[in-house]
Amino acid sequence: MRLTRYFLPILRETPKEAEIVSHRLMLRAGMIRQQAAGSYSWLPLGLRVLDKINRVIREEQNRSGAIELLMPTIQSADLWRESGRYEAYGKEMLRIRDRHDREMLYGPTNEEMITDILRAYVKSYKDLPLNLYHIQWKFRDEVRPRFGVMRSREFLMKDAYSFDLDQAGARHSYNKMFIAYLRTFARLGLKAIPMRADTGPIGGDLSHEFIILASTGESEVFCHKDYLDFGTPAEDTPFDEIGRVQEIVDKWTSLYAATSEMHDEAAFNAIPEDRRASARGIEVGHIFYFGTKYSEPMKANVATPDGQQVPIHGGSYGIGPSRLTAALIEASHDDAGIIWPDAAAPFSVALLNLKQGDSATDGACASLYQSLTAKGFDVLYDDRDERPGAKFATADLIGIPWQIMVGPRGLADGKVEIKRRATGERTLVPLADAVAAISI
Ligand code: ATP
Ligand code: MG
Repeated sequence: MRLTRYFLPILRETPKEAEIVSHRLMLRAGMIRQQAAGSYSWLPLGLRVLDKINRVIREEQNRSGAIELLMPTIQSADLWRESGRYEAYGKEMLRIRDRHDREMLYGPTNEEMITDILRAYVKSYKDLPLNLYHIQWKFRDEVRPRFGVMRSREFLMKDAYSFDLDQAGARHSYNKMFIAYLRTFARLGLKAIPMRADTGPIGGDLSHEFIILASTGESEVFCHKDYLDFGTPAEDTPFDEIGRVQEIVDKWTSLYAATSEMHDEAAFNAIPEDRRASARGIEVGHIFYFGTKYSEPMKANVATPDGQQVPIHGGSYGIGPSRLTAALIEASHDDAGIIWPDAAAPFSVALLNLKQGDSATDGACASLYQSLTAKGFDVLYDDRDERPGAKFATADLIGIPWQIMVGPRGLADGKVEIKRRATGERTLVPLADAVAAISI
């Protein structure tokens, strides 16, 4: 993409309304624009990041055996009356009437709708287990939308729903998602710690919030520091092996980790003092076993092998890709701007022509652009008629992992400079070797 033909509305001034760094940087980098309280347009650069994050989420959901579908945003109130949640949900639900005066709502979540799909098609234990997910916009009329896309009213969610014949099956489904989440966040360069969360009236230990530690986080969290050094489950984790999967989850739940709602001071104090982390955190994911909470009232039953009809055991699993975009920035930035991890970067390479209009630099940039693109790299070519300083500042602000600087002085020696955004490390390489020096 040539920057002169792109739409990248960068702000020079620091926006006053932004209280935290991710919100500030997303506005300054031209990633989002506020349209109403808690509602944002995703401008081209922001959308690229959101798409990259979604790609990682999809790969890991699919790897664990979940299947993607897509449900509508607008739902019927009647469906929610069946579960009893239409009244219970309160003011966070945006209620709408259509032209026939039918009551509708903008979905804050999809348990009812997915249960309706299940009961229509799934009649036997032979059809289970199933895990269906979608990535769809949600609306929650939050009392205090704030921090940009971190807590907005309209936000994107990946929500998966598992269905099993019994509780043992549901636990395995839960464990698979648990591992998929660990892998997803690790691939995005984040250390997300699963923390025990409240299961409400259902009880049990099958609810975890995935939290990343950040000083601007809204939750107060407590955990054992050893979690920060735990290795990520492997790509070839055998998701169908119940015992192996349980072992991984057991390891990741063996140490203390809880948000303030579930905090147990005595258990926390039992951790050696130098291993205690008491910090603030951002909830980027939440997984939950809810049993027969929806299948019972909505009559989503299946036949068991001996012919009985039993309600399906379900779980739901959410990740907020829009919040995750902001969380990535909270976790990775410096004074100059964003530092994207490779997996989420809107472009992999920023190609900076330090003297636009110079035939040598123009020619070198054109050929680099072509070979990088041919190798599958997303390249943002800064071909503006701007001073080098402005180009450096833009590339740093928008956080592109690799920068290739092409200037007349270097080219006179046949060289270009390559900078790694994350470390600031710069190397001079022969023009012919530049493409090979880039790896993602
Ligand atoms: P919170 O406690 O932060 O309000 P929640 O517990 O209500 O979130 P869930 O219903 O568990 O959220 O939703 C799943 C995921 O969706 C969350 O882990 C988070 O990543 C994301 N999410 C929830 N609410 C918002 C929001 N208002 N803005 C952006 N992302 C959100
Ligand atoms: Mg939650």
